[in-house]
Amino acid sequence: MSKGFEGDRLLVATHNRGKLEEIADLLRPYGVTVVGAAEMDLPEPEETGTTFVENARIKAHAAAQATGLPALADDSGIAIDALDGAPGVYTADWAETETGRDFVMAMEKARRALLDSGKPEPWTARFCCTLVLAHPDGSDDVFPGEMPGRVVWPMRGDQGHGYDPIFEPEGYDITFGEMDRWEKNRISHRADAFARFVTHCFG
Ligand code: IMP
Repeated sequence: MSKGFEGDRLLVATHNRGKLEEIADLLRPYGVTVVGAAEMDLPEPEETGTTFVENARIKAHAAAQATGLPALADDSGIAIDALDGAPGVYTADWAETETGRDFVMAMEKARRALLDSGKPEPWTARFCCTLVLAHPDGSDDVFPGEMPGRVVWPMRGDQGHGYDPIFEPEGYDITFGEMDRWEKNRISHRADAFARFVTHCFG
């Protein structure tokens, strides 16, 4: 039994399959099954915020209001120091094309921007994740997390999703793309935010 929601199913307000799988892995040890927004036929609200917490709030509250159930949303991205924190909340937007998201293109864009910045390596960066648990009464709880590291080139590894092939987490000489998913889930920005969420719900 958790403090944040009832029963053993939790609505997760994301349409991103990669994220949903990671969140499912993170909550499985607590006996929690996740239900995605697509399974509930929920629309994807526009992410008009300028911070991770604003966007996570938009997604979590939209799902909680539509269903009358507590809903968890995550907003995440990579903030690259030499680019003054870009792409940040626009991490997914950098991958947008007319035919869907193209992360190879987005990673090339990041590298081009880094070369254009003239800033030398190491290109320090951090993956950020903010979780918001929204309640049907309009209140919410916020859980931030981050994983420092650096952007590397060329892309390495075919595990994970998004920008994983160009991010080497601090203390490792492999990228998230080369890392076993269980290891990534132990150390990632999302794991950091989830540790706070789990302490809140089950601690
Ligand atoms: P949003 O949170 O749905 O707005 O999207 C976050 C963006 O950051 C997506 O494009 C993800 O691919 C990227 N992202 C977030 N977390 C990770 C990660 O763990 N690895 C790689 N990319 C990530």
